[in-house]
Amino acid sequence: MKHHWIKGNLPLNVMCDICNEECDVEPGQTDWWCCWCQRCVHDNCKSKLSKICDFGKFRLMIIPPSSLEVINLRSTVRRRLYLCSIIPPSWPQWNPLIVVAIIPLGTGNDLSRVLGWGKEHDPNKDPRDILQEIQLAQKIELDRWTVTVKPYGGLGLRSSQQVFYMYNYLSVGVDAQVTLNFHRTRESRFYFYSSRLFNKLLYLCFGMQQVVERDCKNLNKNIELYLDDEKVDLPSIESIVILNIPSWAAGVDLWNMGLEGYEKYGKQSINDGKLEVVALYSSFHMAQLQVGLSQPYRLGQASSIKVKIIKSCAMQIDGEPWYQHPCEFNIKYCNKATMLVNTDKKTI
Ligand SMILES: [Zn+2]
Ligand SMILES: [Zn+2]
Repeated sequence: MKHHWIKGNLPLNVMCDICNEECDVEPGQTDWWCCWCQRCVHDNCKSKLSKICDFGKFRLMIIPPSSLEVINLRSTVRRRLYLCSIIPPSWPQWNPLIVVAIIPLGTGNDLSRVLGWGKEHDPNKDPRDILQEIQLAQKIELDRWTVTVKPYGGLGLRSSQQVFYMYNYLSVGVDAQVTLNFHRTRESRFYFYSSRLFNKLLYLCFGMQQVVERDCKNLNKNIELYLDDEKVDLPSIESIVILNIPSWAAGVDLWNMGLEGYEKYGKQSINDGKLEVVALYSSFHMAQLQVGLSQPYRLGQASSIKVKIIKSCAMQIDGEPWYQHPCEFNIKYCNKATMLVNTDKKTI
C-alpha cells in the first residue's frame, strides 16, 4: 500500500526521514506526513522515499485497510458497508489488539489506577506515547461478575429481573448514596461547571451531608448478606462494599488496609474467582478510610454472594448509582476479560 500523505500541520520538531533536517520550518504548510507510518518528509525529499508504506513502528497494532473484507449492500435509499472478515496481512508477529487498555477519562478511574494507566488523563500527553505504552503492556485476566437483581413484590416473572455486569465493585448504602446525590446534581440543569476539582469538592459536600443526615443508618437491619450461602452477622453499619479490584473511591485500597493482623483472610486478586466484602460504619468512617486513618470492617471473601434488600436504599455498580427498591440480588462469576497492564506503573 502507498503512504497516506497529509500536507502541513506536522508534529513539532520532527526530522525529515530522507535528509534528517527539521521539517515545516519554511513558511506555509509545505511538508508531508504519512498518517500510517508517521514518517515526515520535505516536499523536495518526498520523491526519494519508497512509494510503499510499511506502516512504521505501530504496524503490529494496525489493521491495514487492505485486510478489511467488506460487503457493499446497496438499497434504494443508502449504501451500507458491512465488515465481514479480516484477512491477516503477512507480517510476522501481527496480532491486533483483542485486549483492553484504559485511558482514564473519569473522576475515580479505579480500574485504570490498578492496571497502571494512571489516576487522571494528561491532556498534554502525546497519543503516540500512549500507543508506545500499549505496545509494551502485558496481558492480564480480570474476573467479570454477573449481578442478577430480582425485585420483591412483582409477579415473580423472569422478565422483571435485571442483569448487570461488574468489573470493579458494588456497594449498597452510604457510599452509593453519596455517589447518587452527586450523579443527580450532575444531571440537573443547574450543573454547568465541570472540572475534576469541582467534582471532588461536590463529592466531599455530599459526604459531609451524610454525616449529618444518615440516610442509611441501621442498614444492617434492612439488609441480609450471604457469602457462599452462609448468612453473615452484621454489626451496626451504613454500607456494604463488594470488591473485585484493590481500588475503591478514587484509589483507596480497602481490603489491604490493616490486613496484616488478620491471618484468616487471604490476599486480594483480580483473577482468583473471589470477591472481598467489607462494611463501612458511616460517612465519617468513609472519609477516614480515604485519608488512611482507619480500616474497614472485614466481612469475608466469597465466590458467590446473595444480598436481600428489605428497605429501599442506594446501590451502585462500578460507580453507576441508582435507588434500589426491595429486592434480592446474586453475584456470580461470569468469565474473565483480558486487559492490558502498564507494567511500569501497575499497583498489582
Ligand atoms: Zn507511510
Ligand atoms: Zn528532507
